[in-house]
Amino acid sequence: MYISTRGNIEKQTSAEAIALGMVPYGGLFVPDSIPSVNWQEYKDLDYSNLALRIMKLFLTDLPDETIKNAVSVYGDGRFDTQNPVPLVDVGTYGFLELWHGPTAAFKDIALQVLPYLLTSSIRTLGLDSEVLILTATSGDTGKAALEGFKDVPGTRIVVFYPAAGVSHIQELQMTTTRGQNTHVVAVNGNFDQCQTAVKKIFGSEEIRKKFSESNIILSSANSINWGRLLPQIVYYFWAYLQAVAQNKIGSGEEINVVVPTGNFGNILAAYYAKRMGLPIANLICASNKNNVLADFFNSGIYNSNRPFYLTYSPSMDILISSNFERFIFEITDRDEEKVSKLFSNLATDGIFEVDSETLEKCRQNMIAGWAQESSVLESIDRVYKDLGYVLDPHTAVGWRVYMDYREKSGDNTYTVITSTASPFKFANSVLLALKGDDYKNSDPWQALNTLSDLIEWKIPAGLKNLQSMTIRHTDKCEPEKIPSYILAFA
Ligand SMILES: *Cc1c(COP(=O)(O)O)cnc(C)c1O
Repeated sequence: MYISTRGNIEKQTSAEAIALGMVPYGGLFVPDSIPSVNWQEYKDLDYSNLALRIMKLFLTDLPDETIKNAVSVYGDGRFDTQNPVPLVDVGTYGFLELWHGPTAAFKDIALQVLPYLLTSSIRTLGLDSEVLILTATSGDTGKAALEGFKDVPGTRIVVFYPAAGVSHIQELQMTTTRGQNTHVVAVNGNFDQCQTAVKKIFGSEEIRKKFSESNIILSSANSINWGRLLPQIVYYFWAYLQAVAQNKIGSGEEINVVVPTGNFGNILAAYYAKRMGLPIANLICASNKNNVLADFFNSGIYNSNRPFYLTYSPSMDILISSNFERFIFEITDRDEEKVSKLFSNLATDGIFEVDSETLEKCRQNMIAGWAQESSVLESIDRVYKDLGYVLDPHTAVGWRVYMDYREKSGDNTYTVITSTASPFKFANSVLLALKGDDYKNSDPWQALNTLSDLIEWKIPAGLKNLQSMTIRHTDKCEPEKIPSYILAFA
């Protein structure tokens, strides 16, 4: 069963938690207890069966058939490698490549699966409603959600992205999406404005009522939805099993995990994996110049009232990290009163401060750092020169923060750095790092080919085909008009 981080709703089944996406009155769904597992039992499973075993623990009210169908996506050819999530070892650490799905970023791993979970949840609840999926994106979630939900019967999906806040390739990926049920809107604002507007719609009794009168349920494809987070827990087990199989660590030996972080979903999945019993020593949370999380771990003050920077790692340009609420909930031993207070402060004033005991517990459970913009490009160049391996700018943030940590701490524990996007998705920035200024504003198609020639990696199919596709979505909207845009669907 699922409970709210703010204690403001009775227990819900997993079908209800997934169908709703978030608690209608604010707050996020979390499992009422976290199962303990023995990772050794998973040793001989392939990725799909590992996902099946782990996801079943959390989705006890969904039919087995649903979860089986859902996890089949990892083996049916839509990921471009036989091992959908390879761990590429480079010595004392390795990169967990999470970007072999159709849209070349890690969001595919959950968003290929979510449509199965969501439509099955609706059926399990005995509803015949249409689901309208509202999604705010900082660049990668949007396309991954569109690919997952396009032409899925009984669903419609609307994606809001910050008009000036995504890469050219990310934008084209979204605006060229086919499907009868897809809508893409460029918002004249930043990601936080998109996400806040969407969350407010979920919180509005009036809007919900209008939709339920039209037999439509609102749900979310953002990582506020438990169905988004759950499939992400699986690959931390997979990473560990690969590290053991590759003889990088002894059986039972602990690893560190580094996650380039924005909305705090990916690293939260790692935290849950650790709580389930996976031998993880340190979780390292890496931010870009929008370093609100790193500041929090220093000071105990979460302050989103600050300049919003557009960076080389746009999918991490976020000041309000939604899943941090789930983390604070766990760290305070599930103190729903405290969480309600802190996060309503955040909603009204953009800031909260925790007591010193809570801060100490946060620090015991996570290490945080951030990377300057210039160091992101330097890191891409340096790793390529030293290792012949190519990082996208988000992964480069993770690598930089990890190197700083390792130097300072002397901690040589084997470390898994999650590689969250293909470098081709940010080809212009990667070329800028590798070849200099000439490539800053070069044509994105040329950039893809130049990068491919240079590093001798193949361009992911989903990006290669983009150039010949027609733009189908041209809607634009001011942030304050998002509710009326949505209401038109009711
Ligand atoms: C979404 C995204 C992130 C941030 O992940 P969160 O779960 O939001 O913290 C990092 N890198 C890339 C490439 C992403 O698409």
